[in-house]
Amino acid sequence: MSNTDEITQEQVELFYKKLKSDAETNGYLLNPDTGFVYDLIRGLLTNIQRYGYQACPCRLASGNKTADLDLICPCDYRDSDLNDYDACYCALYITKDVAEGKKKLSSIPDRRLNEEQRNLRNSGQTETAGKPLPYPVWRCKVCGYLAARTDPPGVCPVCKATKERFERFM
Ligand code: SF4
Repeated sequence: MSNTDEITQEQVELFYKKLKSDAETNGYLLNPDTGFVYDLIRGLLTNIQRYGYQACPCRLASGNKTADLDLICPCDYRDSDLNDYDACYCALYITKDVAEGKKKLSSIPDRRLNEEQRNLRNSGQTETAGKPLPYPVWRCKVCGYLAARTDPPGVCPVCKATKERFERFM
């Protein structure tokens, strides 16, 4: 495929079903505006075609997967934005309060760290108070789940983010 025109409605609906099921399994809610969500899904599918990974449809990806890991949907910023703004940056995910009409969506500033900040965050630590830890601690950058083990888990048991979304925390 070479452009969005080739993304079929069937593909979009299939993707939507899986996204909705994953969201519900993990305690998240998709925006109830299905047409809006379909448009975002077209963006995600386009990015999969273009880059080989589902970069956020509302941000500009670099095409370098390692550099864009924080932008792979669900991005590292989803949960913080849900906490602070009741929706992720794209408003693909929303909180229960928004779903129930108790809160309205407002514009959300992009909290993505700049490159230098991201590199710093990814540098990690190997010791605490001068004492080496028996195991490194890995943090899921999507949901914050922590795991002390030799290597990061293959899949986050909480949000299902893949191994590459973990960072060395301690
Ligand atoms: S969670 Fe929302 S803001 Fe983050 S990548 Fe997905 S659509 Fe974009």
